Amino acid sequence: MKVTDLKGFKNKYPILGEEYVLLREPTVGIIYSHKRAESVAELNPPLFFILSRCQGKQTFEDIFEEYMKVFGVKNKRTALEKVSLTLLTLSGEGIISFRTCPTEASPDQFRITKNFNLYSVNIEITRACNLRCRHCFNNSGNPMPDELTTREWIKVLDILKKKRVLSLTFTGEPFAREDFIEILAYAASNFDVYLMTNGTVIGDDDWFNSLSDKQIEALKKVKTFQISLDSPAPEINDKYRGRGCYQKVISALERIKEWDSFIIISSTITQENKHMIRDMERLAAKYNARLTFGALEYRGRAVSPEFKNLLLDETIKIEGLENKPVYSIPKGATTAWCNMIKGYYTIRPNGYIKPCLMPDDMFAELDPRLYNSVSIFELENKSI
Ligand code: SF4
Repeated sequence: MKVTDLKGFKNKYPILGEEYVLLREPTVGIIYSHKRAESVAELNPPLFFILSRCQGKQTFEDIFEEYMKVFGVKNKRTALEKVSLTLLTLSGEGIISFRTCPTEASPDQFRITKNFNLYSVNIEITRACNLRCRHCFNNSGNPMPDELTTREWIKVLDILKKKRVLSLTFTGEPFAREDFIEILAYAASNFDVYLMTNGTVIGDDDWFNSLSDKQIEALKKVKTFQISLDSPAPEINDKYRGRGCYQKVISALERIKEWDSFIIISSTITQENKHMIRDMERLAAKYNARLTFGALEYRGRAVSPEFKNLLLDETIKIEGLENKPVYSIPKGATTAWCNMIKGYYTIRPNGYIKPCLMPDDMFAELDPRLYNSVSIFELENKSI
């Protein structure tokens, strides 16, 4: 882009789109999307600075002058190109727009503090599961003996609301709890909800037809469904997850596709299905879904000679346009994705808190206090 192309910005007031919240985590700035119930980008300091000024009150020129001063920029031409290119990219992605006169963006969209900014909480609502996947690293199946009751979960949601949490991610297999729809209805009226599920309950026609209109409305309010499917080949998926699961997941995808929710298909990659990633892409495209992959982990129920042989022995890289990797699935455990204490924590089925979504037994290897010492109810009147 040339500096002469910048005329379009003159006297314009950039403003952050209503869907977005700009906030600072302990280490980085992020853009959070209400529509997707998750952070959609991490921001370096210059980008964070520019976006923090997109409140509809300053013109492009004001922002540029301030940027020069704050970052001690000497070369005006280079800086001008950088700031304008940034704004142009952000507007191309719909993150900001330009107004011709000053406007007041909502102050709730700018949560810029120096402290820990808790915006998202994972709720592992149960250890129960309707499936017994043979590679489940969490060993899920039966509920924990001390799981919270419906009323206690509602109280937890009230606490999180007071703490200004924006999004809740329900994990475990939420639909294994009979009261989940009730909890979901309360959650979806107060938070952006991101739901991780194996999808088999949503794909079950008898279950779905038994729901009331109000319960279906609650389901449709979920912003993002992350659904597990390990292969586009039914026989491989069902070998790991159980007979009939593939078809139920496809029924769930067909159902959700008609709603406004985003879909993410999540797959565990093994030696057996690693060649099928392109086919997974084609399947995902049918449902307008994004894909996410993790390598098979040798823990929980996957600890067996069969799954030992299926562990990845190489990092899988799938190239996309311009030969840039679109997926990179590291061999072995996927715990490198851990985002420990970066703006969120996980509440376990009994209300105790752990820093991220890693299974309890991994923390136990380090120190059980990491997952077994603080309950959400004790944090009610504390600052995080
Ligand atoms: S992998 Fe997921 S769906 Fe399968 S048993 Fe574990 S929690 Fe349930």
